[in-house]
Formats: sequence, structure tokens, C-alpha cells
Amino acid sequence: MSEIKELKEQLFLTKKNGRLVEDDVVLAKADEYCEGYKAFLDVAKTEREAVCEAVKMAENCGFVPFEIGKTYNAGDKVYFNNRGKTVAFAVIGKDAVENGTNITAAHIDSPRLDLKPNPLYEDSDLALFKTHYYGGIRKYQWTVTPLALHGVFALRDGRVIDVSLGEKDDEPKFVIGDLLPHLAREQDKRTLHDGIKGEELNVLVGSHPFKDDEGSELVKLNILKLLNEKYGITEGDFLSAELTMVPAYKACDIGFDRSLIGAYGQDDRVCAYPALTAILDIDMPEKTAIAILADKEEIGSCGNTGLQSDFLRFVIGDLAKMQGGDATVALRNSKCLSADVNAALDPTFPDVMERKNASFVNYGVVVTKYTGAGGKSSTSDASAEYTAEIMGLLDKAGIVWQTGELGRVDAGGGGTVAKYIANMGVDVIDLGVPVLSMHAPFETTAKFDVYMCYRAMYEFMK
Ligand code: MN
Ligand code: MN
Repeated sequence: MSEIKELKEQLFLTKKNGRLVEDDVVLAKADEYCEGYKAFLDVAKTEREAVCEAVKMAENCGFVPFEIGKTYNAGDKVYFNNRGKTVAFAVIGKDAVENGTNITAAHIDSPRLDLKPNPLYEDSDLALFKTHYYGGIRKYQWTVTPLALHGVFALRDGRVIDVSLGEKDDEPKFVIGDLLPHLAREQDKRTLHDGIKGEELNVLVGSHPFKDDEGSELVKLNILKLLNEKYGITEGDFLSAELTMVPAYKACDIGFDRSLIGAYGQDDRVCAYPALTAILDIDMPEKTAIAILADKEEIGSCGNTGLQSDFLRFVIGDLAKMQGGDATVALRNSKCLSADVNAALDPTFPDVMERKNASFVNYGVVVTKYTGAGGKSSTSDASAEYTAEIMGLLDKAGIVWQTGELGRVDAGGGGTVAKYIANMGVDVIDLGVPVLSMHAPFETTAKFDVYMCYRAMYEFMK
């Protein structure tokens, strides 16, 4: 080897496609792992459904609801269900909770179209729903694509009626219209941002008039009659409902080589599923392991099911107090992986990235030291010490990883739950899967990266 080549190998930082680094056994494991992930995506399209499915999986692995006043020992598995929208799973460690916990925190809400409180109307003999989008969406992406209705009617007599319609092959679906190109001359002059406006995201839900009567709003009347027969509800019950439109299609493989996954809601179920399956695989950790799957990240982690609430603080407090320990000390000694996605470089749109600091599909799990916008505004910038500690952990476990910034400086920006967990005095850094077309109704990830995310979550909590 020439001296220069030797020096280069010794001194340069080199980044390699993970699929070239790993052997066939690992790649086969990644493919197999992602079959479970795709199945999870199909049954967990909302935070409520994700909590339901996660609890079901956890109970099968011996997790029980945490009860205040009960004592749990090392290896015991408990969970805290916050209003069916956020859930924390914990495996009690050999060491005292007061000496710190290892937390993985992902979110299970995704951008979507919520129905307005009074959504149903009739116009020009068609029945439609008014929507109010949730999270950061590019509105034009949500038209002319099949949608499914998910959520609950909560009735004033206390009953809660689950709704899921449009997922099965034989179920009807819904759709938002758009103009034909022939008549779009004026609309085409709009900016992409206003190509479809918020109040134009109206969902077509029916067209048959109710025949046995005459008068106005017969299509709307017929829809209400059908809804009354199916769910026992009247129009006033929409006022208290939580209903949302999500893409109706299922997760699938992408590419001739099947190396990628295309699906709705991968931000952030692509990290939530690894965090969940990792804690399900943990038996007797040194430190108490906690995996939290949170709601409301996409709208700022607000509300009593978001991570700006005291829920996680209370969880750690309950666990510490159960051992006669102090909650504040436990928090101060705790460490966290904020398990969230980063934007992968898309070769069609490389200009929003700075290549040396962008993340790439198939290059492994992404460590993101900071997110934010502009001059690192509104981010928890992980300390050098903690960043090095996590990188060391990944190296030691032989996990393929990369670093990433959220785009070129001043291209835009964003954030994760990291800053809210940091506010509690916990050491935290973002670690997750690179995603193509993030926040689109159909997002793409690489199976290899998903598996590396699982391995990272496991190594951190074990
Ligand atoms: Mn996210
Ligand atoms: Mn997001």
C-alpha cells in the first residue's frame, strides 16, 4: 500500500453504503424484520390504533398495566397507557431507577386530514366532509388519492364507537377532488403552496339522494341515514368525534430489488416499531428501560398526550417512588434516544441538502445532533460528550450508522421531541431512520435502515 493510501485510510472519515458492509445473514434478517413492520403499519395508522396494537403485542410478552402501590422487581414488565393515545413501556432494571433510566422516545401520530367538528355538507347533489389538516402537509399531495376514515365517535352517554372504513378491499373509500388539466389554467398560476388550499381539502363521501322524500339536502340525509344504521349516530355526534382521513393503501415493497418500503405514516412509526420491538425483546436490563410512543409530535407535542406534558416525568416518578427513590434524581441520571426520522437525500432534489452532512438511504441509522431552523433555533443540541457516548455504543455493537443534518443551512427546518425531554434534565440525542418524501401520504424508507434502528434501540436499552 502506498504511503498516501495508508494515511488516507487512517485519517479520512469514510462513509459506506451499509448494504455493502453487511453480510447476507444481516440483510436477510432485515428483510424478515420488516415484514412485521409492514404489518404494524397497516393496523396502526393513527395514534389510537398504534397504542392498541402496541399494548396487545406487549401483553403477549408479559407486560402488565403499572399499578401504584405495587412493587415490581428487576425484569418485571409494565406499561402506562395515557388516554389510549400515548403509551410508555418499562422493563425494571437491576440498578435502582434513581440511578437513571434508558429511554427511547418515538411518536405515533402522523400528518393527516382531521374532520372538522361539523364536517358533513351537501353541494351540487354531492355529499362532502370539511377537513382541517393535522401536522405539516403539502396539501396538493392529498388530492385524488384513495382515503380511509379512522377514529372514534364519543357519545354523550359514555359509549365510544371505533371507526375504520376503507382499509379492507371490499370497503368503500373516499377521495378529494382536483381540477382536470383542461380547466386548470387559473389554478396552475397559483404557487405550489397554494395549489390546493386548506378549505379545498373537501372529501367526497356520497352522491345518492334519499328517495322516499322530497326537498333539499337529500344526499346528506341519505349519508346520515347510513351512518345512523352503521354506527347509531346522528349529525350532532360529529361535534365530539375524533375522525381522520388517512391514505387507504397498504405498506408495500418498493423497487425491483424490494430493498425499500413505501407506506403512509412512516414518520414516525419507522422508529416507534423498532423502539417497541426492542423493549419487547429485553429481559433483564442493567438500567430500567423505557420506550415511550407519544402522540401530538406533529403539532408541537402539545396537550396531555404530547411530550410537553408531564406524562413521562410522572412515569419515571412513579417508577422511582415505587423503590423509595427520588423522581428528580432519576430524571437527572436518565438518558434518551429521541427516536425520530431524518430527511434522506433525494437525487432529484439534492439542492436542499449539503452532501457532507446529509443522510442517505441504506447508510444505516441516522444520528442527528441537532435539528432546528435558521441558526439552530429551537433545538436541543446534544452535547459533544453524549454524542460521542452514543456513537461509541453504536460502534461497539457493530451497528451501521451515519450522521445527518435536517437539510442545507437556511433551507427550512424542523424539530423533534428531543428538546422537551432535554427540558427535564435528561441527556438526549435524535436517532432514527432516513426517509424519502417525508410527510407525504406515501413515504419511503430502506429495510436495512429500519433494522439498524431496531438494533440501536435494543443496544441502548438492554
Ligand atoms: Mn417525526
Ligand atoms: Mn414529522
